[in-house]
Amino acid sequence: MALLETENLVKQFGGVTATDDVSFSIHEDERVSLIGPNGAGKSTLINLITRRLDPTSGDIRFQGESIVKLTPHEVVQRGVSKSFQSASIFPTLSVMDNARIAALGAEHGSFRFNFLKRLDSHAEVDDVARQTLTDVGLWSQRDQPAEDLPYGDKRRLEIGIALAAEPDLLLMDEPTAGMSPEETKATVDLIEEVKRERGLTFLLVEHDMEIVFEVSDRIIVLNRGEVIATGTPDEVRENEAVQDAYLGGVDE
Ligand code: ADP
Ligand code: MG
Repeated sequence: MALLETENLVKQFGGVTATDDVSFSIHEDERVSLIGPNGAGKSTLINLITRRLDPTSGDIRFQGESIVKLTPHEVVQRGVSKSFQSASIFPTLSVMDNARIAALGAEHGSFRFNFLKRLDSHAEVDDVARQTLTDVGLWSQRDQPAEDLPYGDKRRLEIGIALAAEPDLLLMDEPTAGMSPEETKATVDLIEEVKRERGLTFLLVEHDMEIVFEVSDRIIVLNRGEVIATGTPDEVRENEAVQDAYLGGVDE
């Protein structure tokens, strides 16, 4: 069974069809990237999955159950986290407190047996927070107010916050936007590392093709709201429709 599945998903904004009959699925432990030119409908698709937007028609299923009637918070409780471009950081609190809150939120929100069992004491919350900060390379900055972190570290703290909830599916919309090349590399390394050490299922929107080809098992290509191709990095690289619509054409 697919972990996430969209079926004939449509989203219209007035006369604009931002999502045009999109059907795809993501399986557990699969790393999928969503690419396409500006305005292709990538962010709309992410916002439909997180329930920030209501679909015009079609269905989204997570672990076999429709989520289109759920609130955004309920979707998070089911195990879908979104990192980046979301105000998930409490700026005046320390990095460690941010991680603690994220760990507690997971316990509180998920009602999943493992969390209740694991996070039933402060020590265990601290454990998850410490592990998370170690994973994202921010352990030595744990006592700093989050707002004092450099930009790239802040973005990595956001990934950490999303990861602390141990999501079944992590959604990322342009995680490296605005980062320096060094910060971008650190972020990609982090994604690779978490992928290797914990296993991770994600849907990534990213315009940097090098990153996409490096981290993805499968790529879904959108153009004008429609899926025009899906395949492995090699298949997508060689796909003519993709080259016409995207790779050879518009450069974001
Ligand atoms: P991408 O993330 O691939 O650049 P978007 O999903 O942001 O694309 O946008 C897809 C299309 O939907 C664009 O034509 C955009 O102008 C339109 N759109 C997105 N969000 C809204 C909105 N809230 N209201 C009206 N039109 C929107
Ligand atoms: Mg976008």
